Amino acid sequence: MPLTLGERLYSQPPLPYDYGALAPVISEEQLKTHYDKHHAAYVKGANDILLKLDKARREDAEIDMKAICKEFNFNYGGLTLHQLFWPIMAPPGTGGGKPGGKIADYIEKDFGTFERFKKEFIQVAMSCEGSGWASLNYCGATDGVQINQVEKHNVNVPAQQKFLLLLDVWEHAYYIDYKNERAKFVNGWWDLVNWDEVERRLP
Ligand code: MN
Repeated sequence: MPLTLGERLYSQPPLPYDYGALAPVISEEQLKTHYDKHHAAYVKGANDILLKLDKARREDAEIDMKAICKEFNFNYGGLTLHQLFWPIMAPPGTGGGKPGGKIADYIEKDFGTFERFKKEFIQVAMSCEGSGWASLNYCGATDGVQINQVEKHNVNVPAQQKFLLLLDVWEHAYYIDYKNERAKFVNGWWDLVNWDEVERRLP
């Protein structure tokens, strides 16, 4: 028997650490709100659309497919990006520092130095207008790494590239801890980067 739609819906994988594990860079309250409220809302949003589509198809009802695609992309983008985001962080002391190994070689090959990469990445994170993400992606066509800026959850996502490293700079990601001081969050966040996980994402 094929699985029913109810059995095939999206789920929210558990965090790979405790809510308080990323403090003081990300407080327990900040992480709990981000994961339990915001990430969870995108998972629910995407599932609600699947259920709505299923119902409309079974009843052969009229639906606005353009609006549904837009709403789905937004929620699906949200659930995917957050799912990729949590594992590339680790408690301070475990994470952070400069990468080694293959990921360091890739960064050096395209950026020259880690410092140059970090400077460009911070610039992208700081210049997101409103809600967005900074990311480092792998590009198979050039066998290289590139920085990208994701607007909201779904605009400017390169179709053929693989996300290696991401930073959420939506206000919901840092406002409890840093209020409007995004730079403090963006600069402090490097102490959390789990370079082993970033490296695992390379082909
Ligand atoms: Mn977020």
